[in-house]
Amino acid sequence: MPIASVDPATGRTLETFEPMDAAAVEERVAKAARAFREHRETDFATRAALMRAAADLLDGERDTIARTMTAEMGKTFASARAEAAKCAKAMRWYADHAEELLADEHPDPADVADSGAERAVVRYRPLGVVLAVMPWNFPLWQVVRFAAPALMAGNTGLLKHASNVPRTALYLGDLFHRAGFADGCFQTLLVGSGAVEDVLRDPRVAAATLTGSEGAGRAVAAAAGDAIKPTVLELGGSDPFVVMSSAAAELDDAVSTAVTARVQNNGQSCIAAKRFIVHEDVYDAFAERFVRAMERLTVGDPMDDSTDVGPVATEQGRADLEELVEDALSRGAAALCGGGRPAALPDGWFYEPTVLAGVTDAMRIHREEAFGPVATLYRVPDLDAAVALANDTPFGLSSNVWTRDADEQRRFARDLEAGGVFFNGMTASHPALPFGGVKRSGYGRELSAQGIRAFCNVTTVWFG
Ligand code: NDP
Repeated sequence: MPIASVDPATGRTLETFEPMDAAAVEERVAKAARAFREHRETDFATRAALMRAAADLLDGERDTIARTMTAEMGKTFASARAEAAKCAKAMRWYADHAEELLADEHPDPADVADSGAERAVVRYRPLGVVLAVMPWNFPLWQVVRFAAPALMAGNTGLLKHASNVPRTALYLGDLFHRAGFADGCFQTLLVGSGAVEDVLRDPRVAAATLTGSEGAGRAVAAAAGDAIKPTVLELGGSDPFVVMSSAAAELDDAVSTAVTARVQNNGQSCIAAKRFIVHEDVYDAFAERFVRAMERLTVGDPMDDSTDVGPVATEQGRADLEELVEDALSRGAAALCGGGRPAALPDGWFYEPTVLAGVTDAMRIHREEAFGPVATLYRVPDLDAAVALANDTPFGLSSNVWTRDADEQRRFARDLEAGGVFFNGMTASHPALPFGGVKRSGYGRELSAQGIRAFCNVTTVWFG
């Protein structure tokens, strides 16, 4: 894939970039390794001041970087602004909390009495240079939720961003540098995916994190496994959104949350709700209101305040989505709304908000991730069927359930195979809470204490 900014709302190429050659990559890897030796020795107060400076810069430049994101990958300007604000918040959260999250731990004296380990401590030391392979869908947030904890822990970072968001990638490398982090602490490698493996295998690189597709995750994890380096993988999701009959009184809330959960970021979020599993007692009412609300969404120019859904980020992404929908329709599914390109928007990679019913396990969309504004709707007779269907997917990122019934909540919280179970609301990430999945959604956790410790050498220091 060429490294280029292409406006998905028009299909127009805005700028193309020459990938860095091997010598430029080598220079950056060497610089990252050198920077690590100094950065690891800085104290938390110093790192926190730099991280807050980066957050302040980002706040001040919110509209500019939001316009860049919208132009490169088509998210609405309003959501791009919100993403930038969320990044600044996460930076400040790690600036405030890193020291306590990485404080030395002491074993319980009762556990180690007379063992010789009375004065032992568990210490979280940084690992070194961490390679981050990142996707375009939240081009700032995906990077910041790695970079803020990694830098606060004393690591240095190399960013290989998706090839369709080079302007945002360059902005990020520049941001941390302008905030005052030493040269080499956080750098962008403007390279295609073919250059990743060599960087990963470089002995100066200690670990990797990847957010993206299963294929990319598999390739990076295989090379990292071969080189015996730790990885965190945050891959796709096909999150269930279950509505039980006990939610009958708040069906309107459930419907409006369902719509947002499906079409946020033009439908291209790993934690978007994608499969809507509705108890038969409320199915007809939910389906009717959900379809009506999806039909009412405004699809169009992502810079326009009145737009709800912008284009799909890439031409290939829309083609993949079209294939999934056509496969389902050809095998007997019904489009309750949408199902094609909006006629009024012939340029750019737009797709109509779509609801499919009558989906069976013979259809690809039943088990694959629909990365765009396409929902599948299922009717279930009871809780057991809802749990079974929710788990009938290779993915296990997060899940949403609408029920106020305490017994039902206990069952879903116990049985859903996912890294998150959100009741009566939609999945969201928060710096203080771990984020990640099970099954083919990946492994490891980002954010919270888990996220900052993921790239630490958890060291037992024993004093005899
Ligand atoms: P990719 O997984 O291909 O891209 C994500 C990142 O991985 C990019 O930086 C990409 O680089 C890199 N990459 C891709 N292949 C390899 C490889 N073999 N070795 C090393 N790095 C690699 O996502 P796509 O943009 O192609 O999207 C395809 C599908 O992935 C989507 O439809 C969706 O299902 C899923 N996806 C999930 C995301 C999530 O948030 N979980 C985010 C994005 C996509 P480059 O851009 O240069 O190819």
